[in-house]
Amino acid sequence: MIDTIKHVAITGGTHGNELTGVHLIKHWSKCPEEVDRNSFATELHLTNPKANQEVRRYIDQDLNRQFNARDLKNPDLNGYEQQRAKSLNALLGPKEDPRVDFILDLHTTTANMGMSLIFNTDDPLVVGMAFYIKQKMPEAKLFFNPCDRMKDNFLTSLGRLNGFLIEVGPIAQGLLNYEVYSDTHTAVMHALDYLELRNTGQAIDLPTQMDGYQFIEKISLPEDSEGEITAMIHPNLQNKDYEEIKPGDPLFITLSGETIPYDGDAAVYGAFINEAAYYDQNVGLSFMEKISINLMNDSPL
Ligand SMILES: [Zn+2]
Repeated sequence: MIDTIKHVAITGGTHGNELTGVHLIKHWSKCPEEVDRNSFATELHLTNPKANQEVRRYIDQDLNRQFNARDLKNPDLNGYEQQRAKSLNALLGPKEDPRVDFILDLHTTTANMGMSLIFNTDDPLVVGMAFYIKQKMPEAKLFFNPCDRMKDNFLTSLGRLNGFLIEVGPIAQGLLNYEVYSDTHTAVMHALDYLELRNTGQAIDLPTQMDGYQFIEKISLPEDSEGEITAMIHPNLQNKDYEEIKPGDPLFITLSGETIPYDGDAAVYGAFINEAAYYDQNVGLSFMEKISINLMNDSPL
């Protein structure tokens, strides 16, 4: 017997200053027919209301790093977002045996990343969704970040079959921009359509392999001995997300205008370049490698 997806959650405002998801959730609350599909129930949640009210990414901790199974059970973690994570675990999970089958979490970035589909599992259901959306929106980038679901600290990992993070940019924090709003809306429609096709056993013509990017590491901005930033993203690198960075290419530029090149041995690709949200930890960008992502044989769920 094929197990079907019965409960899908769309979540927004996990980062309180990313308004696109917040306003899509509010819109769909008034127009639920847009997210209704016949074969499953769709529920809508604003996940970080206090941060949203204050138009801040978070109050105490980054909510989208609180969903590791061990952390959810730790009674000593009681900051605002740590408590929100436990409430969301009760509402959507519990993580070990979740009520909700699939979670679509809506984010934006200040980096020039376009439509980025971020997923942390090679499960064919999830990879198939990424491929399906990329077929419909060829400019989308696939951002694969494999992680065991129990150890995964993203909100999407509360879903029984995991989930999917839709990350669109560039857009400043605390802003709406119709192009970003509309692209996010379109990607969610494709995601729901895909689940409906899957549930109802219709043939979905997908390639077996697509290009994507896999996270390597976060790269810190240069700092002095007091932890003060001494350089910023080099202008040649600004807005060049998903482009190759070769050894010797300019990476940072100091406050006095001196170029700091990339001193690694191998070419990498940049993402989240000059992401405003990462300044709290003096992070300048992420390094990624280009990979081929395989859609494995799809076994019944
Ligand atoms: Zn976010």
